[in-house]
Amino acid sequence: MTTVETEAAAPLTWQPPAGGLWSGRWVDGGSAMSVYDPEDGSLVGRVADASPAEVDRAVTGVAAAVATEEWPAWQRREALDAAARLVLRRRAALTELISREGCKTVREADREVSRAAETLRLSAQQTAHLTGETLPFADTPRGAGRLGWYTREPVGVVAAITPFNDPLNLVAHKVGPALAGGNGVVLKPAEATPLTALAFAQILLDSGVPAGRLAVVPGTGSGAGRALVGHPLVDLVSFTGGHRTGDEVARAAGAKKTLMELGGNNAVLVLDDADREAAARAVVDGAFGVAGQNCLSVQRVFVDARIAARFTQDVVAMTEALRVGGKADPRTDIGPLINEREARRVEGWVRQAHDAGAEVRTGDRRQGAFYWPTVLTGVPADALVMTEEVFGPVLVIEPFDTVDDAVARVNETRYGLQAGVFTAGLEAALDIADRLRVGAVMVNDSSDFRIDAMPFGGPKRSGVGREGVRYAVEAMTEPKIVAVRRGA
Ligand code: NAD
Repeated sequence: MTTVETEAAAPLTWQPPAGGLWSGRWVDGGSAMSVYDPEDGSLVGRVADASPAEVDRAVTGVAAAVATEEWPAWQRREALDAAARLVLRRRAALTELISREGCKTVREADREVSRAAETLRLSAQQTAHLTGETLPFADTPRGAGRLGWYTREPVGVVAAITPFNDPLNLVAHKVGPALAGGNGVVLKPAEATPLTALAFAQILLDSGVPAGRLAVVPGTGSGAGRALVGHPLVDLVSFTGGHRTGDEVARAAGAKKTLMELGGNNAVLVLDDADREAAARAVVDGAFGVAGQNCLSVQRVFVDARIAARFTQDVVAMTEALRVGGKADPRTDIGPLINEREARRVEGWVRQAHDAGAEVRTGDRRQGAFYWPTVLTGVPADALVMTEEVFGPVLVIEPFDTVDDAVARVNETRYGLQAGVFTAGLEAALDIADRLRVGAVMVNDSSDFRIDAMPFGGPKRSGVGREGVRYAVEAMTEPKIVAVRRGA
């Protein structure tokens, strides 16, 4: 397709509640902000732009509910299971919302709905595992005559701050574990995609989550976001977004507990004994899904020099077969970036690499917020597309002579989220996996693979702590000891 033709947007079939959710009810808020479709700039809806005073009301209300209202684990499990089912029953409406306000095609949005239901189902399961253990007092003379144990207690109020690229499932990854652990949650969704979060909140309320336990404060990062992170009654901040924002959040949070899922500029290694075509297919899928706006996107490929030319040809041919188009068209593979400013930024980074000597093998074309999937070779090591997270549909392919060099190149960035290795050799795969400094290594797959139950995150600038339902529940609860002095 050479030009993207988009149809005039139809009204949403289901409009989520307007405004925001705090003090146990839906409210309009003092000021509002508009949500636009990045594809054509049409208005999708209006939400509250929560002020610091409104954030304060939200946090205070949730803190009071946590302190005063019982909500036993079995009821939490029933509510989260019911919510998982309701997400699937409202699949069509959620798919439409995710796709209209965000950048996902309808096919991508539909897959996200399934993932969110799975995340809630896993969260429900974790309510049965909030267990502690007895303590080994007899192991030390100072423990004589004592008996004790620890239980897992909720931290209290969780502030959840989410990005635009998975507006449903990344919200579920924070709210589900927080509620499963017995906490209350105040959610600040991304400015671009708050409607899906409001629809999700409605689903939780309809499923039996007590209204006092949940608040949603749509708004800006510098307004609602900053006020939420700095609020003294917030006990834990769970943030997903860019690493620079992560620094700001850490400063505003002070000594609060924080969990951070940040970015990546993920690499894939292709050895000469790999199934070349399967590797090319996985790399293309991993690089260009959601137009590259995915923290697990494949951004850099290091391929054995002996197969580099043929591998690059395969990748370029598969990339050129992708259909760039309107999000609502089920034939579309690549939708827009989240806004035109982002598309221009990505275009600028490619221009910079090109000016420094890189060759554009395909792509590098922009129309509004759409940017065509782009494959680059010969990119200098210090170009932004090599060192930073592109968060757009750009893939760099570089040949390597030795595996040692390739491993060093993967590790040389400041990120470390995930990586992929394609090889027929088990020993080679395990050896490389040992040496890559990342949170996960996918063997014979691209970096872009995740199930919602695995510990998720990475070292270096890719984050602090791990998400993944069980690990998030663990982080959002704390051990509490009871020790009994016998015969006292
Ligand atoms: P972003 O950092 O711009 O914003 C994320 C959220 O933080 C938004 O809700 C925003 O309003 C809020 N925010 C901004 N400034 C704030 C402040 N000072 N205080 C409190 N909140 C503030 O990120 P984005 O552009 O929405 O998302 C893209 C980024 O998210 C990419 O870097 C991507 O890699 C990362 N991401 C990471 C993961 C992961 O799990 N590792 C998953 C998805 C996205």
